[in-house]
Amino acid sequence: MDKAAIPQPPKTPEFSTPHPPVFVNFLVQLRILSVNSTKKFVNNSLRTRKDLCADSLFGFLREQFEKIPDARPHPETSLADALMSGFALFALKDPSLLAFEKRSANETIKNIFHIGAVSSDTHMRRVLDEVPPEKLMPIFKKTLAILQRGKGLEDMVFYNGHYLISNDGTEYFNSEKIHCSECLTRKQKNSKTEYHHNFLGSAIVHPDKKVVIPICPEPIKNADGTEKNDCEQNGSKRWLARFRREHPHMKAIIVEDALSSNAPHLKELKKYDLRFIIGIKPGSHAYLFSLLADKKSVSQHEMRDEKGVHHIFRFQNDVSINEGNADVRVNVMDYCEEKPNGKKQFFTWVTDIPITEENAFAIMRGGRARWKIENETFNTLKNQGYHFEHNFGHGEENLSTIFALLMMLAFLVDQIQQKCCRVFQAAWEKCGSKRELWEKIRSHVHVSAVYGITFFRMADILTTIAQGKIPISP
Ligand SMILES: [Zn+2]
Repeated sequence: MDKAAIPQPPKTPEFSTPHPPVFVNFLVQLRILSVNSTKKFVNNSLRTRKDLCADSLFGFLREQFEKIPDARPHPETSLADALMSGFALFALKDPSLLAFEKRSANETIKNIFHIGAVSSDTHMRRVLDEVPPEKLMPIFKKTLAILQRGKGLEDMVFYNGHYLISNDGTEYFNSEKIHCSECLTRKQKNSKTEYHHNFLGSAIVHPDKKVVIPICPEPIKNADGTEKNDCEQNGSKRWLARFRREHPHMKAIIVEDALSSNAPHLKELKKYDLRFIIGIKPGSHAYLFSLLADKKSVSQHEMRDEKGVHHIFRFQNDVSINEGNADVRVNVMDYCEEKPNGKKQFFTWVTDIPITEENAFAIMRGGRARWKIENETFNTLKNQGYHFEHNFGHGEENLSTIFALLMMLAFLVDQIQQKCCRVFQAAWEKCGSKRELWEKIRSHVHVSAVYGITFFRMADILTTIAQGKIPISP
């Protein structure tokens, strides 16, 4: 597609005419808001972080999508337009492709998301189905690099220069009827076969921070012609190799659930020079639990914090993961948290970080931050407007995976905004919840079409929401 045909944001907002007289006041207000918001939101210490706001990131994604080769022999439409349309669907949190298609003539969408022609439902499915997922995956790393350059990742460092990375598998498509050669399968109780697609999700997390920074997930899928299901362990191997290739120098501690505390996986982590804090369970790690029960050999450390919570740690360093793998050495710790009301919680982990009385608390907090991949990532995608559990489509080749990756990219952009963009933060605060914010953004897009007004930047929509002056409603 000719780049000149792609709408570019003007230096100053412009509005299409004619528009009903009743909205003249709105437009005047909006111009004033734009000026005021520039003063309020840009002339502050976050000026250097404009790369980390929506408009800059949308432009970056468009550039990246332009670089993906179009495998169609005679494409009459732009592949980058279709990818950007898919991204916009998730950025706006539309509930379906059909809901998005209804906005195909919306000038605000075209301008904000740099789309020449917004894809229809069927066109988007057909074009995106043929895109190899591997072409989208490097964009996560490049987006993370923008965050790093903008100093947006520094405060996510957790321990001794290391980031904490939480990994866990989840499902993003299932059906009893629709399937492909890469679908995973499982037998249901009624003996019917259910087909599904999973990925190993991954995010940089921090115990003190609600924001998570997703790293590209690894699809768990069957190779063509194989009947045996691919598994999370294989997906994890591929994820580790890719992570180290993409981030050769990143210091990281991997936090995972007890399924991952096995000798082959711990060897893989060591191979890629990654630290770990991984849960263990009595059923699968009886040997380690027997060591912790031996009062003669364990060290015990207790402390009470300012809230009156009692923390009790027991640990033993340099033991084998089990009796059959004397060469795989770990440090093991159990932990009891007792609240002032008597409520107790127990956790147990293995780690390759030597445990001392000084770092036991930090290791515990790192281990407990594992749940952020479930709560702050998967649950956010499911419950805060992203429609993660909705089947947007399976296609014949890659469609469900492409949609999952575009949704994760939209989530990554949102998390970067949440962390670094003051305009986004102000709009979110005004709305009180993410769901309300997405709703307000969509309603601005909608009314702009109804009344012939065009927004050229997401910053203008967010500023209008943050100022609480929403002068029109449909
Ligand atoms: Zn499939």
